[in-house]
Amino acid sequence: MHPLIETRGLSRHFPSGDGVVKALDGVDVTIHPGEFVAAMGPSGSGKSTFLNLVGCLDQPTQGTYRLAGEEVGSLSPERLAEVRGERIGFVFQSFHLLPREDALANVMMPMMYRGIPPRLRRERAEMALERVGLRERMRHTPSQLSGGQQQRVAIARALVCGPELILADEPTGALDSRTGLEIMALFQALNRAGVSILCVTHDADVAAFAGRTLRFRDGRLVDDDRHLPVDAAAMAGVPFA
Ligand code: ADP
Ligand code: MG
Repeated sequence: MHPLIETRGLSRHFPSGDGVVKALDGVDVTIHPGEFVAAMGPSGSGKSTFLNLVGCLDQPTQGTYRLAGEEVGSLSPERLAEVRGERIGFVFQSFHLLPREDALANVMMPMMYRGIPPRLRRERAEMALERVGLRERMRHTPSQLSGGQQQRVAIARALVCGPELILADEPTGALDSRTGLEIMALFQALNRAGVSILCVTHDADVAAFAGRTLRFRDGRLVDDDRHLPVDAAAMAGVPFA
């Protein structure tokens, strides 16, 4: 089986004045299907740049990136968007929900341009909301939901097209610690069901729920450590088995 993510010499340099900013500089990493990986490092160390490259939102200036065996560095913007839509779901710190749309419409959104009939879109969105425990709230708009519930809607939206990989940038950063635990328990349950996860965090307590931690500094990968994950559901006392 191909690695899910394989980067060699992955670099993203930005021109700046008369020099360059090496936001990411020569990163070699291999992540296999089924892994739950945390990416840590101080502010400005290149975590978001790495996530954007892995998520096919940006292209490297040097190096190679294979996603499930496919070299994505040379793809057209159209094909890149297709790959992203087929394989990857995104979760952000600030949820990025459409404020005027209810949870169901938010979760249906990624299917809009994919030629899926409306009835099937709705069924799949309801199933995704069920998976995150929010089916009864599908008619609520974001302002009628708590922060944790909004993040669940965002996770349902990330799941609805059946991605192999979820990329999360500080997914608990806007939540209180108890709610953050519940979100991490949900990620762990999804991971046990086979979804690979790459989660950027500055919080070592959050990284402890992953099985592997990458540490970035000055655009370089300086540490890659596998560890036994702490069970978030047990810590939160919530029933995600
Ligand atoms: P982190 O997410 O770890 O805080 P980033 O990946 O956002 O770090 O940024 C890494 C470095 O690259 C920082 O010095 C940042 O200022 C720089 N950088 C990121 N994006 C750009 C850009 N579009 N143009 C110029 N510099 C950038
Ligand atoms: Mg960042």
